[in-house]
Amino acid sequence: MTMLSLGHYLDANATEPLRPEARAAMLAALDVTGNPSSIHAAGRAARRAMEDAREALAARFGVRAGDVVFTSGGTEADALAVHALGQGRRLVIGATEHDAIRAAAPGAAIVPVFANGLIDLNALAAILADGPPALVCLMLANNETGTIQPVAEAAALCRTLGALLHVDAVQAAGRMPVNFSGLGASSLAISSHKLGGPTGAGALLLAPDLSTIVPLIRGGGQERGRRGGTPPVAAIAGFAAAALATADAGNLAGLRDMAERAAVANGALVIGGDAPRLANTTCLALPGARADTQVIALDLDCIAVSAGAACSSGKVAASHVLAAMGLGELAGQAIRVSLPWNATVADVDAFAAAYGRMADRLRPPLVSRAA
Ligand code: PLP
Repeated sequence: MTMLSLGHYLDANATEPLRPEARAAMLAALDVTGNPSSIHAAGRAARRAMEDAREALAARFGVRAGDVVFTSGGTEADALAVHALGQGRRLVIGATEHDAIRAAAPGAAIVPVFANGLIDLNALAAILADGPPALVCLMLANNETGTIQPVAEAAALCRTLGALLHVDAVQAAGRMPVNFSGLGASSLAISSHKLGGPTGAGALLLAPDLSTIVPLIRGGGQERGRRGGTPPVAAIAGFAAAALATADAGNLAGLRDMAERAAVANGALVIGGDAPRLANTTCLALPGARADTQVIALDLDCIAVSAGAACSSGKVAASHVLAAMGLGELAGQAIRVSLPWNATVADVDAFAAAYGRMADRLRPPLVSRAA
């Protein structure tokens, strides 16, 4: 069971629980005193710890170690990609991209998605065929619905039409196979805390021909001049250890399906259920019940889920992801359930029971709906 004192934590897409492998690696690295830029023995020890982590991550995600640039997390990796690869190019982004991309690419052309959340590749081709060279940003898996985009096809299209492709794989890495060189993209963002590592570390993976980039943060020229600032060695060590502990296997699909069946039996609709999805994520709309009210009701019953992206909670606006999928009113009535790596049957049973109690209270009564 996940963290008894916090009840049942089903909000992994906001942040995953720390994996024990990551904790152990961090504790060991915290005892390394040096700055990786220092040339003395202590500095060299810190650099060794960091380079070991870089090599492990590179092997894990199919990239050369020298093409891994450490950042503070996924948001910075996305911002660096748009800044560096977008130089002199027009920006084109998917309609369901995370705010990390949307905010970095104001005024970008938007590629629409179908009702199931999948990108319209014909629309992308039309946008690319008409205008100067572009940088396209497309997420591999969506944070709210888990929808897995056809990124390899998009990459092939981009190559044919002279565009670069940045892939936001922040939610995908560690939850499905991610092989950067196999995807054929120009760059790819990953984040430590979304795969069971600590917050404070992320990385941008670069294609070999793009490995020299204009930095967003200059500072002392760390990361071969691609990202200034003293790197957080312990967080980076934890990041790599967590990535190595991930399984990609989709072993959470059974639990996710259990949760969905329970919700559907209580009147929920599964959003984007007919598209390929991450095994740990489901987006459930309860017609007539506001998403924030659902989240609070479940929280009072010791279940942690979210309404839309966690990063945008507190905003009253309905999710732009669900609005782009054409959900209309339902866009404000959907919650995200995202199972962490250590989810159990007991967590899902507790969710099912709490969802039933909540739906009984929040669903508009049948009589008034008929009236
Ligand atoms: N991209 C996606 C798809 C995300 O879901 C998130 C965070 O939720 C980010 C980027 C930002 O990552 P980070 O929290 O590491 O800054």
